[in-house]
Amino acid sequence: MSRKPEADYDVIVAGGGAGGVGAALGAAQEGAKVLLVEKYGFLGGAATTSNVLAYCGFFQQGPDPIKAVGGVADLVLDELRALGLACDPFRSPTTSNWIILLEPEAVKLALDRVLQSHGVDVLLHTRVAAVTRTADRLESVTLAGMDGRCRVVGEAFVDATGDANLALLTGLACRTGNEEGKLQAVSGPIRVGGRNPSVPIDREAIIAALENYNRTGDWPVARTDGGIYTEVPQTGEMWWMIFDHPLEDLSSKSFTRAEQASRAAAHDYVNVLRKHVPGFENAYLAQTGPQIGVRESRHPPARYELTGEDLLTGRRRPDGVARAAWPIEDHSVPGKPVYRSIGGEGFADIPLDCLRAKGLENLCYAGRVIGADSAAYASIRVMGTAFATGEAAGRFSARGGA
Ligand SMILES: Cc1cc2nc3c(=O)[nH]c(=O)nc-3n(C[C@H](O)[C@H](O)[C@H](O)COP(=O)(O)OP(=O)(O)OC[C@H]3O[C@@H](n4cnc5c(N)ncnc54)[C@H](O)[C@@H]3O)c2cc1C
Repeated sequence: MSRKPEADYDVIVAGGGAGGVGAALGAAQEGAKVLLVEKYGFLGGAATTSNVLAYCGFFQQGPDPIKAVGGVADLVLDELRALGLACDPFRSPTTSNWIILLEPEAVKLALDRVLQSHGVDVLLHTRVAAVTRTADRLESVTLAGMDGRCRVVGEAFVDATGDANLALLTGLACRTGNEEGKLQAVSGPIRVGGRNPSVPIDREAIIAALENYNRTGDWPVARTDGGIYTEVPQTGEMWWMIFDHPLEDLSSKSFTRAEQASRAAAHDYVNVLRKHVPGFENAYLAQTGPQIGVRESRHPPARYELTGEDLLTGRRRPDGVARAAWPIEDHSVPGKPVYRSIGGEGFADIPLDCLRAKGLENLCYAGRVIGADSAAYASIRVMGTAFATGEAAGRFSARGGA
């Protein structure tokens, strides 16, 4: 693409999660000059901010792991392998779905390296804080960072903030939550250290201990099946998703309540393990994550909203740019996820119009902010799919919308 003299970058990507990294790499592979802006001091999005330590969506459901996502996401997996992570498909014993287990420090370094090797300019500790626009185009973003504020002009922009923070700043009207305005529950996955690895994890003992805790404990556990747990590769730690909290709205007050509840509950639950579950006598809370895990917030307007029906029928389309293969995983009721499988060949095409903002020519979406109704959202939000929608958004933006 030919950049106008006043433009600092061809493509500016807001957010350094799977969607943003996919977008930056896709755009860079098209030869674009790319800036990626991330508010935390590291990349990875939910994987590194919220202890979401498994990539979902890389494979279809079924007895064998059939790949649904490749492209630039494979470069990320290669970097992870170079750091010692196997990145093999792992079949979750709880859900039977194929996932890739992660270790967060490796994710941070792998993403630094893959973006550096593609010449992407990365600004950490920097937030997209304001925009200028014309009637139908974004012109610039104001970045708030450690050295104050600065204005950066771009040809094209990708909102990969998870929360549609860039779209919100443009004034586009965003939907909060599902069609009724209800948000999926937030969760606080934790890492537990100090477990005796020679003692197998006893799910029945966990269930009994939590049942007992629920009689008098401050933070009754909604996941009465003991939750989802795996081992964090290379660490001996247990990854445990056990705490869910309903989110009323997107106010700072609601988030503060959720963060504080999640922290207090995490300490209680690890105490329960230590006192009542064999092998956990020396267990300790290794980490709660820099922030709570947010499943859903705002949905910005897109030119097409992928539907639950598209997924349940495995709809193929000529304008498909990415594949959605993860089952519809609905968390409307805290602690009781409901899964519905993708139909057809085991995946559905995500059309380009899901990635294009309605009302702005040069704004694309990547990751969980793409156009999707509430059922489709419960599938496309996973990180494997986010890499794929990111790559497509980045390539399209770099080609000047062609
Ligand atoms: C509890 C929980 C469990 C989950 N389990 C799984 C799982 O096992 N596997 C899976 O694949 N998915 C899982 N998901 C879903 C998945 O983690 C997210 O949907 C996914 O991370 C979305 O990727 P993203 O890149 O769109 O957004 P995010 O990962 O949220 O990344 C967005 C990035 O943008 C940054 N950002 C936001 N605003 C700004 C701004 N104004 N300026 C600069 N940067 C900004 C954020 O700091 C963040 O790094 C889970 C989610 C939760 C909450």
